[in-house]
Amino acid sequence: MPAIPNKPYRIGRSRTGLGLFATKPIKKGTRIIRYFGPLLDSKKEDQDAIENKYLFELTNRWTIDGSIRENVARYINHACKPNAESDVRPRKRKVYIRAIKNIEPGEEINYDYGTDYFKAYLKPIGCKCDSCEKKRKKKRAEARAERARLKAKEEKKQEKKAQRRAETLPKEKVKAKAQDRSKPKARGKAGSKAKQANGKTRRLNGHRFVA
Ligand SMILES: [Zn+2]
Repeated sequence: MPAIPNKPYRIGRSRTGLGLFATKPIKKGTRIIRYFGPLLDSKKEDQDAIENKYLFELTNRWTIDGSIRENVARYINHACKPNAESDVRPRKRKVYIRAIKNIEPGEEINYDYGTDYFKAYLKPIGCKCDSCEKKRKKKRAEARAERARLKAKEEKKQEKKAQRRAETLPKEKVKAKAQDRSKPKARGKAGSKAKQANGKTRRLNGHRFVA
């Protein structure tokens, strides 16, 4: 993108498409550029019907249609924490973009488009300005950390469970053995006969008897 002669800015690629970038240091308070275009009169019906993203409302009656090619300020993107602002002169029907911070070469120039624009155009698609991107990144990082924390917690829980199982298992075995010992053990022939007597089938004189 070509630099604009004698101007401290150029049009360049930004996160959302094109943007306006400083090419020289711009001091806080400096008028950077004028936002201009045909004035639309809301009292004239044909003008009231005009709709585009570059309309800048000056008063209830007057709106600047900034969609014309010559209005380089239309390239300036919105930011929630901007380095410039719109300086509106309703009586002169003029708008300037003014630096509210010292802007370094290479920095993108931004101003806050205002609540109405934000609600209508940016909120539905998600604002992609630096501070909103940072917020999103932070939230994502926090969510990741939270997931990791929960996972670690669950792993520890499972580990403890396994450990407890490993500790109680031998004891249970011992207990089970102790119970075995306490049972009267069938010994010898009598024992085996008794066992058979408890069973469902037993032999009587060679006949099969089903209980
Ligand atoms: Zn934002």
